[in-house]
Amino acid sequence: MAQPNIVLIGPPGSGKGTQAARISDRYTIPMISTGDILRAAVKAGSPLGKRVQAIMAAGALVGDDLMIDLVRDRLAQADAAHGFILDGFPRTLNQARVLDDMLPDRKMLAIVLVVPNNVLERRLDARRICSQCRTLYTTGTLYGGSEEELCSKCGATLLRRDDDNLETIRARLQTYRDTAEPLIRHYRERSAMAVIDGSVAPAQVTAAVMSHIEQTFGK
Ligand code: AMP
Repeated sequence: MAQPNIVLIGPPGSGKGTQAARISDRYTIPMISTGDILRAAVKAGSPLGKRVQAIMAAGALVGDDLMIDLVRDRLAQADAAHGFILDGFPRTLNQARVLDDMLPDRKMLAIVLVVPNNVLERRLDARRICSQCRTLYTTGTLYGGSEEELCSKCGATLLRRDDDNLETIRARLQTYRDTAEPLIRHYRERSAMAVIDGSVAPAQVTAAVMSHIEQTFGK
């Protein structure tokens, strides 16, 4: 297989984090989740965390310059030399252009997950994240989830993300609608792109995603 360089695009709740973790395991490439990096900074109370906390709580986007510096540093690490999966970056046309300029010789696949709004709202409301290992869960009846409060992998407590409340959920969905179209057009014109129905069961989405990855980069 050629080195897989993948960006995942989709609204909040479309399954980017879940799919990125599976792809990362399957192809042994690092998952780079800008949301996770920012949440860790907020939790640590670092200067970066202090700058972004209110923006994230409002469901708005952190400034491009800051995000671009963060991703540039992360992609310069040795583990990203042989491919990566980006979850949550790029989110603006400018971020996409700068990413192309950072990696002029790398073939890229953009995967776009499409999910209707009413499904997204239900999923985000039901989403929980492990406080330790960051595994994602869906509680309640969606996908046969349970009301279990503890992580089945490491036993730690499951939490709701601070921005998974209805008001912020709606702001984040609106932010996506405001910014996604030029981003998707960019990838349609410039690189391989796959548009995938993200509303079906996670395992079905994974199968579709992997099939596109192997069509693009080989087996
Ligand atoms: P996520 O976990 O991807 O939903 O990201 C959570 C929040 O982090 C977003 O609502 C934004 O406030 C911020 N964020 C993450 N990635 C980016 C990005 N590429 N550009 C701007 N803001 C971002």
